[in-house]
Amino acid sequence: AKELNRSSYSYFTREMGVEIRERVRMMHALRSAFEEKRLFIVYQPQIDMRTAKPFGTEALVRWKTEDGELIPPDKFIPIAEYSGLIINIGEWVLRSACFELVLIHELGLRDFRMSVNVSQAQFSHPHFLQSVANALADSGVSPHCLELEITESMAMTDPDFLVSSLEKLKSMGVRISIDDFGTGFSSLSHLQKLNVDKLKIDRAFVNEIAADTNDGSIAKMIVKLSQSLCLEVIAEGVENQEQANSLMAFGCNQAQGYLYSKPLNKLDLYSWLQKHL
Ligand code: C2E
Ligand code: CA
Ligand code: CA
Ligand code: CA
Repeated sequence: AKELNRSSYSYFTREMGVEIRERVRMMHALRSAFEEKRLFIVYQPQIDMRTAKPFGTEALVRWKTEDGELIPPDKFIPIAEYSGLIINIGEWVLRSACFELVLIHELGLRDFRMSVNVSQAQFSHPHFLQSVANALADSGVSPHCLELEITESMAMTDPDFLVSSLEKLKSMGVRISIDDFGTGFSSLSHLQKLNVDKLKIDRAFVNEIAADTNDGSIAKMIVKLSQSLCLEVIAEGVENQEQANSLMAFGCNQAQGYLYSKPLNKLDLYSWLQKHL
């Protein structure tokens, strides 16, 4: 038994070693990619389903390796968070998105909005509020057109810190939305205390709205909740017209998803906007 234990122990440490080495390798590769400007941002339009017109976009970061391989953010954002690289990467995304929004406004789209994802590590960094203030001041963008997407799980870690940070962000004039709403199990009484503007229905709940069953009870419930708290609501991952119709029937008029557009690079965004305004 002793032999067996020892060999299984070294088996696991060897496996762990491989995993850690792979993570360290990715971390170094990500740092160089960021320094060498191989990260870029794509923009996914957000639509008012009643008019079928875009009113904003969400900035989503991309990593293209030297071999031309695209690494999905679900794979590298956790590494960026874990290594602290997210502080610089997140700040760069925020600043770039603000500067991009100014250009969009200059096209004549005065109230167009930009949503930017903010990770837990970034949000809790002492420099975060200042970096938002700097991005606003340096770009000159209207603060009410910038929306920060935070996740529900952040709401659970340090409630007092969250409440006071949100108040400060609100006083700068920026909007706050809770991303992936419904997946993080935060309590509803807690939600009421947070000064947020919007709930974003997670793709998983939109996916449940199947054409044949017309199910979607969670999506419906989130829409009701947003109405009773006087919050805006948007659905992500809308892929077909049946889902769009059900969401509108529930009372949700904002959507984002492949039905309208996949995330687009800057130039494609401009031509897409030209066609859809
Ligand atoms: P998210 O914030 O929930 O972003 C929505 C994801 O759904 C995006 O994946 C988007 O491309 C994808 N999507 C949009 N429409 C559809 C659709 O109709 N069907 C399906 N199946 N998928 C759709 P993406 O770009 O791969 O991003 C994944 C996650 O990575 C994001 O999830 C977000 O949590 C994170 N992320 C992306 N960019 C950033 C960033 O700049 N900062 C931080 N902190 N996180 C980011
Ligand atoms: Ca998001
Ligand atoms: Ca989301
Ligand atoms: Ca999601």
